[in-house]
Amino acid sequence: MKNEMTLTFSAVSDNEAFARNAVAAFCVGLDPTIDQLNDIKTAVSEAVTNSIVHAYPNGAGDKFVTVRTTIEDNTVHIVVSDEGVGIDDVDKAMQPFYTTKPEQERSGMGFTVMESFMDELSVERNTPTGTVIKMSKSLRGADWKEKKSSN
Ligand code: ATP
Ligand code: MG
Repeated sequence: MKNEMTLTFSAVSDNEAFARNAVAAFCVGLDPTIDQLNDIKTAVSEAVTNSIVHAYPNGAGDKFVTVRTTIEDNTVHIVVSDEGVGIDDVDKAMQPFYTTKPEQERSGMGFTVMESFMDELSVERNTPTGTVIKMSKSLRGADWKEKKSSN
């Protein structure tokens, strides 16, 4: 079965907690462990924070971030996108400790965290402008179907 939801919200920091908690709540039906939910929340938080902090340097007045979450079988797919300035050199941006905002005490670890907490991560250009982060994580253990059918 496939289940999908999309959130679009203003690119302001107040919405970061809302986005991560909404995605976590949507995933609860997959019966994840607390650790898995925390991993997803952290990865969503990093991706959404990047769109809020980096995508719209000229102000986020009427700018938006979109988070699309799809659950298919035992896997959650999350796409975080913005229509901001985009990333020129994705390979460089993904290196640990690389940041274009050291003066704001950013550590350059956002992509590294997303990569380590999710099973898959890709960074793409949005068309015509902006960034698309796609990530996925498998949630149910291999024995889930067995457990469910014996309940
Ligand atoms: P931290 O996440 O540790 O606070 P950071 O945000 O700088 O620091 P990353 O999340 O790894 O580190 O991102 C690396 C760099 O990629 C950023 O400094 C920024 O230049 C660029 N970047 C990331 N996301 C976006 C985005 N949505 N739009 C434009 N640039 C981005
Ligand atoms: Mg970051």
